[in-house]
Amino acid sequence: MPVIETRNLSYTYSPGTPFHKDAITDITFAAQKGDFIGIIGHTGSGKSTLVQHLNGLLRPTSGQVLVSGVDIWQQPKKIRSVRFKVGLVFQYPEHQLFEETAYKDIAFGPKNMGLNNDDEIDKRVRLAAQFVGLREELLQKSPFELSGGEKRRVAIAGVMAMQPDVLILDEPTAGLDPRGRDMILQQILDYQKQNQTTVLLVSHNMEDIARSAKKVLVMNHGRIVMLDETAEVFSRAHELESIGLDVPAVTRIFMSLRKKGFNVGPNAYTVKQAYDRLLPLLKKGGSANA
Ligand code: ADP
Repeated sequence: MPVIETRNLSYTYSPGTPFHKDAITDITFAAQKGDFIGIIGHTGSGKSTLVQHLNGLLRPTSGQVLVSGVDIWQQPKKIRSVRFKVGLVFQYPEHQLFEETAYKDIAFGPKNMGLNNDDEIDKRVRLAAQFVGLREELLQKSPFELSGGEKRRVAIAGVMAMQPDVLILDEPTAGLDPRGRDMILQQILDYQKQNQTTVLLVSHNMEDIARSAKKVLVMNHGRIVMLDETAEVFSRAHELESIGLDVPAVTRIFMSLRKKGFNVGPNAYTVKQAYDRLLPLLKKGGSANA
């Protein structure tokens, strides 16, 4: 059974007013335990509207969201409990830190869930801090004394500490330098692997998606236009370009090598794949030319 799924999900902002906007239409997809799905689409394609439905922040205009097979709006009074099963890390989550210390900020989620065993909370806080690479001594600092990257980690750790079945991250690496970006992405990957959490990652950065996602969901004008294995999606570079999306730089290089007559084999979309494919050809001394 899927951990999370949507069935014919549609949402309209301000229906029946001059601001009426159909933001998402007829979205049907399912994610299994341990899936890592990248969500891409140009600005305004409906990504944020979709993910806000998955933890019950928005209520569908029509259609359903199911978590472990149960419609989350079956009992609207229990919608709060969905937010602990489906953790959502917003864009620029560090803007929502408010406690006196990083420790208290990370502990806020588990406490809010109703956990009142201090040892259990402490265990979760320290484990989550470890996952995002926050050093012990930073935990007693005010979040405002931390660097931008450290604040981001505190915010992500706060959601991880709830140990949700589904972790959704909306542009978790936006605004970070390349080193900070790589570190956070790697930590999310390690977390996912160790806990077999289902992860949905919204990103503009195709390199991040290529490195992490097993499947990619592509949105355009509020609809799903592709949902497939990452390699399949990036092999449709022309279609992606036609809806204003890029492909990873490595994929672009492979495509232009092929156009120039080099037999470089199937598309690569990460640097590691490109290296593995090109190395034998280079060793043969340029016999890659078709
Ligand atoms: P994305 O996350 O892909 O940038 P959004 O889900 O934010 O897309 O937006 C989808 C569409 O819904 C856009 O046309 C956007 O302008 C519109 N929209 C988003 N939020 C609101 C809102 N609060 N009120 C009205 N329209 C909105």
